[in-house]
Amino acid sequence: MISKVLIANRGEIAVRIIRACREMGIRTVAVCSEADRDALHSQLADECICIGAAPAKESYLKMERILSAAIASGADAIHPGFGFLSENARFADLCTRCGLIFIGPSGEVIERLGNKAAARTCMVEAGVPVVPGSDGPVASVEEAVSLADEFGYPVIIKASAGGGGRGMRVVRRHEDFEESFLTAQAEAKSAFGDGTMYLEKYVEHARHIEFQILGDLEGNVIHLGERDCSVQRRHQKLIEESPAPGVSKQLRTRMGADAVKAAKAAGYTGAGTVEFLLDSDQRYYFIEMNTRIQVEHGVTELVTGIDLVKEQIRIASGQTLGIRQEDVRVTGCAMECRINAEDPARDFVPCPGTVEELHIPGGNGIRVDTALYQGYRIPPYYDSLLAKVMAVSSNREETIQKLRCALGELVIEGVTTNLDFQYQLLGDERFFAGGVDTGFVESVMEESKADPDLNASDQ
Ligand code: ADP
Repeated sequence: MISKVLIANRGEIAVRIIRACREMGIRTVAVCSEADRDALHSQLADECICIGAAPAKESYLKMERILSAAIASGADAIHPGFGFLSENARFADLCTRCGLIFIGPSGEVIERLGNKAAARTCMVEAGVPVVPGSDGPVASVEEAVSLADEFGYPVIIKASAGGGGRGMRVVRRHEDFEESFLTAQAEAKSAFGDGTMYLEKYVEHARHIEFQILGDLEGNVIHLGERDCSVQRRHQKLIEESPAPGVSKQLRTRMGADAVKAAKAAGYTGAGTVEFLLDSDQRYYFIEMNTRIQVEHGVTELVTGIDLVKEQIRIASGQTLGIRQEDVRVTGCAMECRINAEDPARDFVPCPGTVEELHIPGGNGIRVDTALYQGYRIPPYYDSLLAKVMAVSSNREETIQKLRCALGELVIEGVTTNLDFQYQLLGDERFFAGGVDTGFVESVMEESKADPDLNASDQ
C-alpha cells in the first residue's frame, strides 16, 4: 500500500492530487521552486520541500532533487501530474531504481508511446487505424518532400518527440514544404532536443476525439468513454466535453474497442488517453497516446463518477481494477473551459500578474479546479492555465448554459485572461449545434477581427 506520496508538480493539478490523497488517508509531500513558496500546493500538502530556483529547469525538472526529496521525506510513491517529468521514461525508471513507485506506466511503455513515430508503427502492427503517413521517421528533407508529393497535399509535419502542438506544421503546397519542414525541425530540436520528424496526411475538417483508458498491472484494460477536444487554438485545447456530440453508440463502441486494443498493444498500465482524429465521413485514425493524467480528465469524472486520480493511485499500488467495462456508465454531459492568463487581443501572450480580487463560481453541477487565491502572485515562469471551469447536467444545452453562467460569475481581477473569449466561443451557434471541427476557433477569430471589442478581457 502507498502511504505517502510526493507530488512532482505545481498549480491546480498538484492541488487536485493532494486532495485525492487526503481523501484516501495518504500523506502528501509537495515540492516547490523558490517562486512557489506561497503557492497553494505548497501550503496544502502535509509537507513541502523547496527544490530549487524558479525556472523549471532548476526545480520541477531536476530529477535527482525530486528523488532526494522523496527519499528524505519517506515518501513511497511519486505522482508526476502532467507536463514537467510526467512523460519522462528515465524519470519513471529512476523512481523504480530508487525503490519508489512511479504513479504512471513503466519507463519502457512511456518510451514506446512517447516517440510518436514509433507509437504509430506499434498501432499499425496492432491493427488500429492510423492517419496515412510515413513509415516511421523521415531521414531527410528530400525524402520528406518526395513522400509529401506522393501523399498529396495538405500534409502535416510532426516531431516524433512532440507535444503541446509544438514542432508541427501544416503544408498545403509543394513550394512551401522545405521551409516548413526546416522550421518545424528547428522548433522540435530546441523544445525537445530531438529533431526526428515524420509525416501524416492532413485530415481536413477533423474532430479531435480521445478515449480515457485505465489499465491495471494484471493486464485488464477498460475505457471510460470519449472526450471531444476539437475546440483548439494552434493545436492547443480550449474547451473539452464528454460525450462527443453526434457520435453514435456504434461508433463509440468501435472506437472504444480500438482504444483498448491500442493500450493493450502497448502494454499500458495506469490512466492514459488514446487520441483519434474523426473525419467528416466518420472514419477515425489514431494520432497519439498520452501516458499521464490529462488536463481535461475532470469531464470524464463528471459523467462517469469515477475518480481518475484515485484510480491511478490504486493501480500503482497493485490493486486490481474494481470496474469492468460493462460497469462504466456515462450519464449526462460535462464540459470544461480552460481559463488562461493570456491576452486574446495581443495574440494570446501570457499575462502573469497579481490576483487582486477573486470570485469562484459554484452551485449545482459546477466544478472549478484552480490553485488561485486572492492576493496570489502568478509567477511568470510556468504555463498560463489559471482555472478549469466545468459544468455537468443531464443534457448538453443545459451544460452549456450552466458553464456560460459560471463564466459570467467568475471574477479574476488584476490579471488579463481569455475569459471573455471563452464566453464568446460558448455562445457561438455553431458550437451550440455540436460537432465543430478543429478549425472552429480559427474561423471565430477571423470573423471577430472585424470587431476587436469581442477580444479583450481585463478581468
Ligand atoms: P501534440 O502531441 O503536440 O498535442 P497531436 O499529434 O496530439 O500533437 O496533435 C494535436 C492536434 O493537431 C490535433 O488535436 C489536431 O487538431 C491536429 N492534428 C494532428 N495531426 C493531424 C492530422 N494528421 N490531420 C489534421 N489535424 C491534425
